[in-house]
Amino acid sequence: MRGATQSAEFRLPRRRLAERLAQAGVRDGRVLAAVEAVPRHRLVPAELRTRAYQDASLPIGDGQTISAPSMVAVMSQALELSGNETVLEVGTGSGYQAAILAQLAARVISIERLPGLAARARRSLDGMGITNVVVHLGDGTQGRPADAPFDAIAVTAGGPQVPEPLLDQLGPEGRLVGPFGARGAQELLRYRRSATGALRCESLGSCRFVDLIGTHGFDR
Ligand code: SAH
Repeated sequence: MRGATQSAEFRLPRRRLAERLAQAGVRDGRVLAAVEAVPRHRLVPAELRTRAYQDASLPIGDGQTISAPSMVAVMSQALELSGNETVLEVGTGSGYQAAILAQLAARVISIERLPGLAARARRSLDGMGITNVVVHLGDGTQGRPADAPFDAIAVTAGGPQVPEPLLDQLGPEGRLVGPFGARGAQELLRYRRSATGALRCESLGSCRFVDLIGTHGFDR
C-alpha cells in the first residue's frame, strides 16, 4: 500500500473481498489492488470489525455510514484514475474512500462537514501511513476553489442535484461521480467534461447514500 506496509491482519478476507468485487464486474485492476491493500477493519467501530470485509455499508457514528466496498469500487473505477491526478472527495466519513483514492491518484483533497468524523478520519489515515490525503473541515458542496481545478471529483453523500461549484472546479477532461436525486433514493451520475469544456452526464444506476447537507445540498 502506498506509504505503508500492508496490514497482515485480515489479509485473506481482504483478498476474498477483492475477488468477489472482480466477479461482480469491477474491471479496473488498480481498484481491485487498492481494495486488497486498504485495511477497512481499521475504519469501522471496533465491535463491527469482523464485518469489515462483508460488502455492506456500516454505521460509523454521528448518523453516518462507511460506504459498501462495491460502491467505493464502482465510484473509484468510474473516475478512471491512472495515478497522476488531483482528486476532490466530498464527504470524508470514515476515510475509506479517501484511502482507496490515495492508492489510485497522486493527491486527494477530502472535505467533511462533521468535526468529529474529520478528526477521526485524519487520525486513521495517519495511522495507515497514508500521506497524500488532506482532510478539510467544511461544506464540500462549495468545493475547494484554492485547490481547483480537479482531475476527478467523488461526491460520497446524496444531494438533490450536482453542486454547481463542483462542476465549475472540474478541469478539462475531468470526471465527477456522485449520487443525486431524492433523499434516500438517488442515481449514481457520472459527469465528464470534454477537452473543449462541454459537459456530458450518464447514469450508472440507482443507489442510496446518506444526505449531502450544505449550501448546494439539502438544508439539514
Ligand atoms: N466516503 C465516506 C462515506 C461517508 S458517508 C467513507 O468512505 O466512509 C458521507 C459523509 O458525507 C458523511 O460523513 C457526512 O457527514 C458527509 N457530508 C454530508 N454533507 C457534506 C458536505 N456538504 N460537505 C462535506 N461532507 C459532507
